[in-house]
Amino acid sequence: MTDRSSKKKSLSSSGLDTIQYVVLVHCHEISLKGHNRARFERLLIQNITQKLSFEFDELPPVKRFAGRVLVSLNSTQDAFQAAALIADVPGVVRVSVGLRLAQDLDLIYQKALDLALAEEPFDSFKVNARRANTDFPIDSMELNRSLGAWLNERLVDKKVQMHNPDLTIHLEMIGASAFLYTHTQTGIGGLPVGSGGKVVSLLSAGIDSPVASWRMLKRGAQVIGLHFSGRPETDSTSEYLVRQIAGRLDAYGGLHKLAVVPFGSYQREIASLVPAPLRVVFYRRLMFCVAEELAFQEGARALVTGESLGQVASQTLDNIRAIDAVANLPVLRPLIGMDKLEIIAQAERIGTFEISSQKHEDCCTLFTPKNPETHASLSKVDKTWASLPISHWLEGIMSEMEFVDLLRTNMNPYEQAYEPGVLA
Ligand code: ATP
Ligand code: MG
Repeated sequence: MTDRSSKKKSLSSSGLDTIQYVVLVHCHEISLKGHNRARFERLLIQNITQKLSFEFDELPPVKRFAGRVLVSLNSTQDAFQAAALIADVPGVVRVSVGLRLAQDLDLIYQKALDLALAEEPFDSFKVNARRANTDFPIDSMELNRSLGAWLNERLVDKKVQMHNPDLTIHLEMIGASAFLYTHTQTGIGGLPVGSGGKVVSLLSAGIDSPVASWRMLKRGAQVIGLHFSGRPETDSTSEYLVRQIAGRLDAYGGLHKLAVVPFGSYQREIASLVPAPLRVVFYRRLMFCVAEELAFQEGARALVTGESLGQVASQTLDNIRAIDAVANLPVLRPLIGMDKLEIIAQAERIGTFEISSQKHEDCCTLFTPKNPETHASLSKVDKTWASLPISHWLEGIMSEMEFVDLLRTNMNPYEQAYEPGVLA
C-alpha cells in the first residue's frame, strides 16, 4: 500500500499540462459481438459511468476509443481509484492505468522513464510498443527498439528481459495520441449487465445462491433477487443477511430489485397436507410458481437457483425433475456442476461468504423430516399437487410480497471487510 501511494505521488508531481491521466478499459468479448457491438459498448459505458458516479463527485468522461473504453481523470490517484472500481464491472477484461500524451517522442521517452522509475523496485524490464495504424511514421518494431535502447541507457542497474520481466512499459500510438502505461489489472470479465435480459434468482442467505446470482449478472443478466423468509415461523435474520448479500452483488452493478416473501405460514400448510418426506419438493414447487409470477410481472425470462447436483436431497435428478415440472420458464442452475469447495472459493472472492456464514434459519429447513425423499415420483407429486389450493396461495403470497430497498454501497469486496455479527 505504501509503495503504491509513493508511486502515485511521484507520477502526479511529474505532470505536464498536455498530459491526461487515463484508464484504458479492454473488453475482449465485446469485440466479438458483430452487429451487437455498439449496444454492448453503450451498456458497458453506462455501467462504468454509474459505478464511478458513486465515488466521484465530478464524473470523469467515459468514452469509446479505438475498440476500447477510455476514462480520463485529473490525477494518477484518481486513475488508480477508478481502475479498481472499473475492474469489477462485468464486461471488463483488463484495465490499464497510464498517460495519454501528444505524439512527441522526446516527451514520450521522458514520461516512459518517469513511469518506470515510479515502479521501483524492479530489476528487469521490457518495452511493448505498438502503432495502431500507419499514420505514425515509425513502425512498432522500430519504436520498441529505440525506446528500449533509450531507457536502457538511463536505467543503468536494470536489465532488458523479454520473457517475464518485472516491468513492462507499454506504448501505443492510437490516432493522434500516445498512450503509456505500466499498470494493468485483470477485470472480472463476462458481459455488460443488461445485455443478457432479466432473470429472477431465488436468493437465500446461504452460500450458493449469491454465487449463482453473481455468475448470471457477470454474464450480462439483470438479476431480480427473490427471497423466501420463514417468517412468521422464524425470525427475520435471513432477510437481513440477504439484504447485505444483495448490497454486495449490487456493487457489481447488476442487481435490479430484491423481493422478499414471508413464506412460513404457507410451509406450515404444506406440512399439514403433504407426506413429510416430500415437503421440500413442495416448498420448492411453490417457490418456483411465485418466482414465475414475479418474472411475468417484471419481464424476466428465466429463473435461477444455486443448486448443485447431489448437494442435498432436493437436488437429485429425480427431485429436480419433480420440481421443474411446474415451471414454464427455463430454470438456470449455474452451479450445477460445481463442488461446494469451488463455490465457497468463489463466494469468498465476491465478498458474500462471510455474510452467508452467519447463523440463520432458512425456510427450507422448516418442518423437514430426517429422511427426505431423494427420488420423488413425478406422478405421485403431481397428484398431491393437484389437490392443493395453489392459485389461492399464490394470490396471497403475491399480495404479501415486499420490495426491499437495496443497500447501495459500491463496496469493493477485496478491500472492505464485512463485519460479521452486527445485526441492524
Ligand atoms: P443456498 O441457499 O445458497 O443454496 P443452501 O445450500 O443452504 O444454500 P439449498 O437447500 O441448497 O440451500 O437450496 C437450493 C436453492 O434453492 C438455493 O440455491 C436457492 O436458489 C433456492 N432457495 C433455497 N432456500 C431459499 C430461500 N429461502 N429463498 C430463496 N431461494 C431459496
Ligand atoms: Mg445449496
